[in-house]
Amino acid sequence: MSNENELLASVSDVSTESEFFSPIPAGYKKGKTRYCFVLGTVMSGLGKGILSSCLALLMQNKGLKIAPIKLEGYLNIDSGTLNPFRHGEVFVLDDGMECDMDLGTYERMLNQNLSGANFATSGQIFRAVLDKERHGDYLGRDVQMIPHVTGEVKLKLRKLAMQTDADIVFVEIGGTVGDLENAYYIEAMRELAYEEGPKSCCFIALTYILEPKVLGEQKSKAAQLGIKQIMRCGVQPDIIACRASNPVNIKARQKISIYSNVPVERVISMPDSSSIYMIPAMLKDCGLDFEVARLLNIEDRISLRNERKQWLKWCDFTDKIGQEKHEITIGITGKYTSVRDSYASIINALEHSGIVLGCKVKIKWIETTNITDKTAAEHLSDVDGIIVPGGFGTRGAEGKIACVKYVRENNIPYLGICFGFQMAVIEFARNVCGLKNANSTEIEPDCTQPVINILPEQKKIEGLGGNMRLGGRDIEIKPQTFTHKLFNKSEMVRMRFRHRYEVDPKYIEQLEEAGMLFSGKAPEHPIMQILEIPKHPFFIGTQAHPCLTSRPLKTQPMFVGLVAAAMRKHYPNENMPDCIEAVRKVCNRND
Ligand code: GLN
Repeated sequence: MSNENELLASVSDVSTESEFFSPIPAGYKKGKTRYCFVLGTVMSGLGKGILSSCLALLMQNKGLKIAPIKLEGYLNIDSGTLNPFRHGEVFVLDDGMECDMDLGTYERMLNQNLSGANFATSGQIFRAVLDKERHGDYLGRDVQMIPHVTGEVKLKLRKLAMQTDADIVFVEIGGTVGDLENAYYIEAMRELAYEEGPKSCCFIALTYILEPKVLGEQKSKAAQLGIKQIMRCGVQPDIIACRASNPVNIKARQKISIYSNVPVERVISMPDSSSIYMIPAMLKDCGLDFEVARLLNIEDRISLRNERKQWLKWCDFTDKIGQEKHEITIGITGKYTSVRDSYASIINALEHSGIVLGCKVKIKWIETTNITDKTAAEHLSDVDGIIVPGGFGTRGAEGKIACVKYVRENNIPYLGICFGFQMAVIEFARNVCGLKNANSTEIEPDCTQPVINILPEQKKIEGLGGNMRLGGRDIEIKPQTFTHKLFNKSEMVRMRFRHRYEVDPKYIEQLEEAGMLFSGKAPEHPIMQILEIPKHPFFIGTQAHPCLTSRPLKTQPMFVGLVAAAMRKHYPNENMPDCIEAVRKVCNRND
């Protein structure tokens, strides 16, 4: 047994005799997986997730297997109970995990499905430790932040490494260094780097260079102090990425270099970018990918051939950015209209679709609280298409229904997402089927014509948190429908869900007789998952969230279809392609 393996055996020793405690999953092979830690300094919201995912993409392109993980400081078990207004959208993974929106960035960049193993919160970590304590797993020891809680963090990372057989695990720590709630994560990273040995881990600090207007020059002091904080935790950064509004000048980079022991080539400038999809090229131009490969001593696993091929594919997408020859406006009705992060996936899905169709998509945010049938036209006459996105509760619901009525009657392209699907059913029931009292029991619990009703399985559930109908589900597509053509004649597609209510099966026949068609259903239940109005140029709704699975290299047909239909409406004299044709051209998918 080599010395290194002896160390590993001793640190995994759980006993009252040893001060070492670092549980390691059975079969874990040290050295197989390298770790890249991304930490924030100075302030949050600078794009740690973007930096980490763009770098992860560059490493993935080299043929390396990547597993990202986000570590959140808060005590919630998942992000499901967080208000999107405070924390950005709740992203849902295929396995049903409700997580931070950064996981969406990783999935989009890496074009890879993630799972609950890629997301941890302090709540999950502490729950695991406390469960073990109750189970007697700590053999009479006093349970402490170090080594037990940090041990649990390291265990989570190593389990992820093993499960995914990753070459590199990218670890993003939420918040900024100095936050009390993240301190034990940073300590766990330090310990892991010590245990895994030299060249196994790489620390990347994201910082911010101020450029006050009154001074007219870049100031690096705040960045220096932020980095000092990391060093105080016993962590020496290997790379420092400097966010700023403009390219960071050499003087500022040199100051940071001297202050932090990081060679200036590894103090890189990361100025604002018009699209996050341009950032991988920005990092590549600085040579950051090869720096990381060298730091992790992983160059022998790299395939340059694979890299060339993947990079061409990526550039095929990014070369179209900024080249758009057309422009349309999509209205999005939403409760959280002031916070764009609440709708990050929808904005991304529209961006992807616009880029591949050569069309800039402007977004008009529509606050629906005061919209009525009479005033809808005022708000919607300048949009080429509308999305009613997911939502909960009553506020603004009547206004959304008024918007749906207007776009249905005026042949304006419509995409209803989850709540928006339900609003479309209510509108159609009221105004076409004549069910004047139609509503959702979420909005009106005693409603006499509940066309949208609670899912039977949801009736028994009490409390909140992880108990909606969640995650990826198959959708059976009805042949010969518009939806069927939109999905390239696939009979089964998969999308992600997050809801408690559904179309009440009692009303399906009546709705279909009046001209609404349910073109996508759950395979073994009467749960309606996609609807269309065949007579309308583009009127489609889904109980799912198609935005969650739109990616630059795998655009989502419903979004591409909406943008294509909106282009046709906006440019009636330009012979724009039919939307099915447009989708077929740019969505090369077979699911
Ligand atoms: N509030 C609705 C439901 O629970 C829609 C949910 C959503 O839009 N995500 O069914």
